[in-house]
Amino acid sequence: SWSSSDSFISTDSAGESAEPGGPYRVVLLGASGVGKTAFANIFAGAADSDDCELCGEEVCEKEIEVDGEPATLTLLDTWDAETDNKCAQEPCMQTGDAYLLLYSVTDRASFLRASELRISLRCVHPAQHTPIILVGNKCDLVRRREVSVSEGRACAAVFDCKFIETSAAMQHNVWEAFHGMVRQLRLRRESKEA
Ligand code: GDP
Repeated sequence: SWSSSDSFISTDSAGESAEPGGPYRVVLLGASGVGKTAFANIFAGAADSDDCELCGEEVCEKEIEVDGEPATLTLLDTWDAETDNKCAQEPCMQTGDAYLLLYSVTDRASFLRASELRISLRCVHPAQHTPIILVGNKCDLVRRREVSVSEGRACAAVFDCKFIETSAAMQHNVWEAFHGMVRQLRLRRESKEA
C-alpha cells in the first residue's frame, strides 16, 4: 500500500525546495466545529486586504513577520470533516508543508479524532519531519472543558509534535500557533541545509 504514497513524497520534496521564507503551505485539520474557520478568519483578517494577495474562502496567502524576518504562509482550510470518504480527504493530507491539528478542549471526541488524524498524517508523511502542532482550542470555555491541559500535552509528547492551547474567540495564542509553525519550518530547513 506504500506505493500509493509516492506522490506524497514528491509533494513534500516541493516543500523542501521552497525558498527561504516560504511560501509554506499550512493545512488546518480537525473535527467539525473545533474552530478551523475561526482560525482561518483570524489569519485572513489580521492585516489589510491588500496584504492578502490570494484570499478565498478556503485558501489565504499572506506574508507575516516572525522574529524579525518575513515568511509567507498559505493557509488551507479545505478539510471536509464531515466526509468519511478517504479519497476526498487525502489531498489535504498530502499538500501541507505543515499542519495545525485542532481539537476543542470542550469536546473529547474531537480530541480522539485529532489522534486519528495524527496517525494518518504519519502514514502520508513517513519519516518526514513535517511540522505539526496539536492545538487545543476553546480554552476560554472553562466550565465546559472535557480535555485537560496535561492530557493535551501528553498526547503531543506521544505523537512527537508541539502543543498549544488557544481561544480563537478571545484571539488568545492563535498567532503564537502560526508563529510557532514558521519557527518549526525554519528549523526544518536549517537542519536540512546543515
Ligand atoms: P470548524 O468547523 O472547525 O471550522 O469550526 P468553526 O470555526 O466554524 O467554529 C465552530 C463554532 O465554535 C463557531 O460557533 C465558533 O464561533 C465557535 N468557536 C470557535 N473557536 C472558539 C473558541 O476559541 N472559543 C469559543 N467559545 N468558541 C469558539
